[in-house]
Amino acid sequence: MHKRILLPLALLCFTALLPTLQSCSVNPVTGKQELSWVDENWERKIGEQHYGQQQQAGGGPYVIDPDLTLYVQSIGKKLAQYSKRSHLPYDFVVLNDSTPNAWALPGGKIAIHRGLLVELKDEAELAAVLAHEIVHADARHTAQSQEVGSLISVGQMAASVLLSSSGYSNQALQQGIAYTGLYGQTRYSRGRELEADLYGMQYMSAAGYDPKAAVSLQETFVRLSKGRSADAFSTLFASHPPSQSRVAANEQTAWGLPSGGDRGKARFQQEISKLMRRKPAYDLSDKAKKAIGEKKYAEAIALADKAIRIEANEGEFYEVKGFAQSKLNRSSDALKSLDKAVALNNQYYAPILRRGILRYELKSYQSAEQDLQASLALAPTQIALIKLGEIAEEQNDCAKASQYYQKAAQAGRENQQQLQQKVLALRSSCR
Ligand SMILES: [Zn+2]
Repeated sequence: MHKRILLPLALLCFTALLPTLQSCSVNPVTGKQELSWVDENWERKIGEQHYGQQQQAGGGPYVIDPDLTLYVQSIGKKLAQYSKRSHLPYDFVVLNDSTPNAWALPGGKIAIHRGLLVELKDEAELAAVLAHEIVHADARHTAQSQEVGSLISVGQMAASVLLSSSGYSNQALQQGIAYTGLYGQTRYSRGRELEADLYGMQYMSAAGYDPKAAVSLQETFVRLSKGRSADAFSTLFASHPPSQSRVAANEQTAWGLPSGGDRGKARFQQEISKLMRRKPAYDLSDKAKKAIGEKKYAEAIALADKAIRIEANEGEFYEVKGFAQSKLNRSSDALKSLDKAVALNNQYYAPILRRGILRYELKSYQSAEQDLQASLALAPTQIALIKLGEIAEEQNDCAKASQYYQKAAQAGRENQQQLQQKVLALRSSCR
């Protein structure tokens, strides 16, 4: 769509016929004249508003290894100094998600999943990933993406969770919040991908890294996109499609940049060593989630227990175990597991929401309400609002229940009819 509309609009830039919403400006990175529907204040605002919730959609911050996040931040900040808009409020976070992915929000909020970190060979490859994302923010690619454009026109940022009463599928556990699709899977055009590679390599070279790492990184992606791991990589590849022509373009770019530069292999491997030690446990946990999706709950518990034997301090493993236990109606075991999950990580909505739902089912309405509210503060899921509505109904507060159901209807596309019916039924019974 961009390609089709950009040419005539570029011509329009020289006329005074522009609609008020949009204006012409020079792209800060490329220096090209282009149509822009956002200004920098808007970029900063959108980035800040959605950074927290978008992290929740990607497994939440990787709290078990704060040093790893500090390390990634130090590399990101070093690179951001060389961006054209180095004054942007850049931030970098590692997310607890096995899907190999990285994303940027407008205004320079950037995330990398631990599932991508384990595929990288050295610090220069990490720099290549981060510099690429920095360009997407710096050159306003993310801010001007079709996904964000449609958000503006729709005028809402709805969030919902796909946690059905039949339990969470692997997908739901991974993605959770539906608007992952808008930012996490922002699709960049081929031209913007090449631009992000080109300027990203300039930034990494200026920061002292060997720009050839962007070539080896791209080669890895091409190989993986062809291999058996293609499925696992589909999110990353959908937003940043790899290709042999990108490998060639990056090779050419590297020729034009100063040779040499740091690869930082030993340093990188030292920094991710704890993550690599835990990787087999995450693989087991991923298998456990898959088993839950297939309703093999006892198998899921056994897999989660194996993961816990490797790493006893990862909340995710207890969350998976607790959920499987609750499906087998082992409520008190499930509650213990979820207590442990929340105690280990209270910065991720899923275990808190899960415990809130279990407490609701056990009719512990007061503590359920606390959990559901706490989960909402992290991620505005429809299911939490529905459960809060049901609790209010149990307490015969039909005005409050009605409010929650109305909010729930706004929070997602699911369950619209049922929620409207509930609101109507309450309206007549409230009189
Ligand atoms: Zn990209």
